[in-house]
Amino acid sequence: MHDDRNLVEARLKRVLDERIRPAVYPESVPLDVAVWHAPGEPVPVAEGLSAVPEPIAVGDGWGAPWGTSWFTVTGTVPAAWAGRTVEAILDLGFDENMPGFQCEGLVYRPDGTPVKGLNPRNQWVRVAAPVEGGEEVRLHIEAASNPVILGYHPFQPTKLGDKETAGTEPQYRLARMDLAVFDETVWRLVMDLEVLGELMRELPVEGARRWDILRAVDRALDAVDPQDVNGTASAARERLAGVLATPAEPSAHRISAVGHAHIDSAWLWPLRETVRKVARTTSNMTALLDDEPDFVFAMSQAQQWAWVKEHRPEVWSRVTRAVSAGRFVPAGGMWVESDTNMPGSEAMARQFVHGKRFFLDEFGIENDEVWLPDTFGFAAGLPQVIKAAGSRWLLTQKISWSRTNTFPHHTFLWEGIDGTRIFTHFPPVDTYNCSMKGSEIAHAARNFKDKGVARHSLAPTGWGDGGGGTTREMVAKAARMRDLEGSATVTWETPAAFFTKAEAEYSDPPVWVGELYLELHRATLTSQARTKQGNRRSESLLREAELWAATAAVRTGHPYPYEQLDRLWKTVLLHQFHDILPGSSIAWVHREAERTYAVVADELGGIIDAAQRALAGDPGGDLPLLFNSAPHTREGVAAGGASAPLAAGGGTGVRPRDGGGHLLDNGLLRVEIDGRGLVVSAYDLAAEREAVAPGRAANLLQIHPDFPNMWDAWDVDEFYRNTVTDLVDADEVVPGEQPGSVRVTRSFGRSTVTQLLSLSPGAKRLDILTEVDWHESERFLKLAFPLDLRAERYASETQYGHVYRATHTNTSWETAKFEACNHRFVHLEEPGWGVALVNDSTYGHDVTRAVRASDGGTTTTLRASLLRAPRFPDPETDQGVHRFRHALVPGATIGDAVREGYVINLPARRMRGDAEVAPLVTIDDDAVVVTAVKLADDGSGDVIVRFHEAHGGRARATLTAGFPITGVVATDLLERPIAEPRRHGDTVPLTLRPFELVTLRLKR
Ligand SMILES: [Zn+2]
Repeated sequence: MHDDRNLVEARLKRVLDERIRPAVYPESVPLDVAVWHAPGEPVPVAEGLSAVPEPIAVGDGWGAPWGTSWFTVTGTVPAAWAGRTVEAILDLGFDENMPGFQCEGLVYRPDGTPVKGLNPRNQWVRVAAPVEGGEEVRLHIEAASNPVILGYHPFQPTKLGDKETAGTEPQYRLARMDLAVFDETVWRLVMDLEVLGELMRELPVEGARRWDILRAVDRALDAVDPQDVNGTASAARERLAGVLATPAEPSAHRISAVGHAHIDSAWLWPLRETVRKVARTTSNMTALLDDEPDFVFAMSQAQQWAWVKEHRPEVWSRVTRAVSAGRFVPAGGMWVESDTNMPGSEAMARQFVHGKRFFLDEFGIENDEVWLPDTFGFAAGLPQVIKAAGSRWLLTQKISWSRTNTFPHHTFLWEGIDGTRIFTHFPPVDTYNCSMKGSEIAHAARNFKDKGVARHSLAPTGWGDGGGGTTREMVAKAARMRDLEGSATVTWETPAAFFTKAEAEYSDPPVWVGELYLELHRATLTSQARTKQGNRRSESLLREAELWAATAAVRTGHPYPYEQLDRLWKTVLLHQFHDILPGSSIAWVHREAERTYAVVADELGGIIDAAQRALAGDPGGDLPLLFNSAPHTREGVAAGGASAPLAAGGGTGVRPRDGGGHLLDNGLLRVEIDGRGLVVSAYDLAAEREAVAPGRAANLLQIHPDFPNMWDAWDVDEFYRNTVTDLVDADEVVPGEQPGSVRVTRSFGRSTVTQLLSLSPGAKRLDILTEVDWHESERFLKLAFPLDLRAERYASETQYGHVYRATHTNTSWETAKFEACNHRFVHLEEPGWGVALVNDSTYGHDVTRAVRASDGGTTTTLRASLLRAPRFPDPETDQGVHRFRHALVPGATIGDAVREGYVINLPARRMRGDAEVAPLVTIDDDAVVVTAVKLADDGSGDVIVRFHEAHGGRARATLTAGFPITGVVATDLLERPIAEPRRHGDTVPLTLRPFELVTLRLKR
C-alpha cells in the first residue's frame, strides 16, 4: 500500500485547526460590558459587586499593573437558541500561549455566589444546557491585571515586579465577551481527534496500531463536511469509535492522574494575590468536580486552604463539601511547599505540625504523603522529619530539572542521615503541569526507570499559577486514555491511592542515601540575603520565645502565649515557601518579607522579654543574670537556665605585627592580621597547629562576575569561578573600639565593606562581623578561608544533624555540587584536629581543594557565599547594607561546631534580677542537643522537649526534669503518644542512635 502517512497527519492538523475547533462555538452574540476599577488594593466581594460600573468595549485597554477591575456583563439569550447549550466566552485579553502568569478573573453571580475562574485556557462559563431562549444573563468578574513578569524574552529586568515602581499603563485589552452556542458533539470530536492524533504520533511507524488509527482518522475526516462541521461531527465520531474502544495492552504503564494546580504561595506576584489565585482555582475545581464524576483534585499547602477559609467563605463552603465527598483532597500535610535546604530543624518539623494539624482539625484527614513537586532539592535531614510527623511517602519531580546527572530511579527508598527510609516517587512525566497530551503520557511510560518491577506512576495534572487547575479538556482526554491500545492507562486517583499501589507492587525498591541535590538553582542559597537573615533570626527567636515562655509558665504561672506563637510560627513557615526564602520572588514579595520579619522580631522580642522579666523577679535585684537559650552551658550558665555568668579568664592582647598589621592573642588562639587586613595566620596554641594554608590568607573577600544563562535569581553557573578578583586593598586596618579587635575597611566598585575581627577572652574563635554596603550588579561576593587541612569529606549542618559532602570532584555527581547548603556550621577535619566556620545567616558555601607543589600539603578552601546581585525578577536584588557574622573555630571538633553554631545565632541576654532560673530540662551529654522546649500545643500545660543526637554517634544520657513530673511519653512531632519510655522519678535514661530525633512529653 502507498504510504500516505504525512498527508493524513497534515490533513488532520489543518481540518482540526481551521474548521473543527472553530465550530465548537458556531454562533455568538456580544454581551454588554461595564467596568469599575478598584482604586487601590483588592476590595471585598460585596464592594466589587455593588460598585457602579462604566461602559467599556471589547478592544479597549484595561488594568494598571496589579490593579483590580470589576466587570459586569449582561445580555439576553436569543430566542432562536432554545434547546441549545449556551456558554459565555469571557476573554479578558489572555495570551493562550502561556497557561497562567497573567491576568485572571473570578466570575460571580449577582448574589455573590462564585461560579468559576477565568484563565488563559479556561474562558467559558456555562449559562444553561439546554436554554429556553430569552434568559437574562448577568455576571460579575473580579479581574486582576497582574502583569506578565516572565515573558517571551525571559529574565529581562523589569520594574513591573513592585506596585511602587510598576506604573499605570493598562496591561490588557478586552478580547471577547460573548454569549455563544456550545456544540458538545463537535467538542467531543475535537477531544477524540486530539487523543488519537497525539497517540498516533508517539507510536512506532512499524506498528499496526499507528496505521489503524491513521486509517480511522482519515475516514473520520472524510465524514466531516468542512462547510458543515456541526452537521457532520456525529458521523465523524462514529468512524473513530472502533479505534477508541480497543483496550490497552496488559503490560501498559499505569498512570494515576491527580488533578492539580501548582500555585506558588508568592513568586511573580505578592502574597495577597495568591489568596485570590487560590480562590479562582478552587472555584474552577469545585465546578469541574460537579461536572465530572470521575475527577479527583488534590491541593497542598494548608496555608492556601486557610486563606480560602478566611478570605473567601463562599468558596470555602464549596471546597468543604467536595472534601467530604472525598474528591477534593488535602495533599502533602505541610503548611506550605517549603524549601527544604534552608529551614532549620524545628522549622522543618513545624511545617508538618501546622500543615497536618490544619487538615486534621478541619477534616479529620491525615496525610501520609509529602507533596513537594517544585522544591529546589531535598536535605538529607528531611526523611526522619517526615517519619516523625507520621508521614511515609514523598513526591517530587523537581530532580528531573538537574542539568548534569540523570537520577537513576523514579520510585525508590530515600535514606536520610539517621537511616530513616521514605518511599519516594518522582513522576516520570517530568512535569507538575501535565495536560494529558499524548506526548506527555508516552514520555512518562518510556521514561519510567523502574519498568519490569513496577508499573505505576503519578501525573499531577492541571495548570498552576493562575492557569486555573485541571480543565474539562484534560478530563475528557484522560477518559479516552483510561484503557486505550498503545497508550498508558490513565485513572483519576488520590495521591494516597497511588502510593498504596506503588508500594504494594514494589517490594524491594532501590535505595538512595543522602541529600536529593538539585543540580540547578544553587544561587537560591544566597539571593535576597535580608530574607534569609529574617528567616534565621526568626527561627532563633522562636526557640528563645518558646523556651522562656514555657519556663516562666512552669516556674511562675506566667501566661503562655499559645495563639501568638501559633500565628508567628505560621508567618515564618509561610515565608519558607520555595520562592520566598530562596529569594526568587519579585521585589514586592521581598520588600514585604523584610517588614514582616521585623514585626515578627518585635513580637518575639516582647514575648522573650516579658517571660524573662517574670523569671528574673525584682529588676533592682543584685544578680546580673545571663539567660542561656543555647543547648550547652555558656559562660558557666546551664543550658536553658539563667544565673550570674562566670567571668572569662584572661584577656586578649593586640599588638603590632612584624611586617605590618596586628596580632591578636588570647592564650588559646594567636591570629595574625596583615597590613591588608587579611588573616595570614590562625594558630591553635594548645594543638600547636596552624589553620591557614601556607602563603595564603583567610578572611579573603572575593568577587566574581555572576551572569547565569537563565534564571538569574536562582542560578549560578559553574563558569562564574573562571574569573575572580581578590579584594586585598584596604582603606584602613586599625585596632577596633572593642578590646581585642581589628577593624578593616575596603572599597570596591560602588561598594564598601567594613569588617571587625575580634578574639574574645577565653574563646577559641575568631569572630568576624562583616558589614557590606552593596551596590554591585551581577556579581557574587564570597568570603574565603584557605585552610591547611586534608579531608575527603566535610560536614554541613542540616536538620537534626549534619550531612557529609566530598571535597573532591571525582565524578560528575560531586562536581555538580559546586555550591551547597549549610545551616549554622561547616566543619572539616583530619583525625584529631578540625576547623569549623559558623555563621548567623548565610547558607550557600563551596569547598575546593588543591595540593601544593611547594610542600605536598593540601589546601582546602572553604568559602561562605555572602551576596549576589541578580537583576531578575527583582532588578535591585540585595542592594544596600547587610551585616553578617561568621566565626572561624580552629581546632574544632564536630561538637565544637555544633556549640559555636548555636552561640553565634543566640545573643546573650542579660538582665538584673533577684533569682536564678533553673532549667526545665537538663541533659547530661553535649552530644544530645535540645532543639525545642515548649508547652504542649493541647493546652494541657505539659512540657514538650525535643532533642537529637548531634555528633553522628551513639549517645547515652540522662534527662532530668527541673520540675515534678507525673509521667513521660515519647510522641511524634504532633505531640501524639508513640511510646512510654522508662523513668526514674524526674529523670529519664536516654540511648540515642546517630542523629536520632526524640520528642518527649513531660506530664505535670
Ligand atoms: Zn513552585
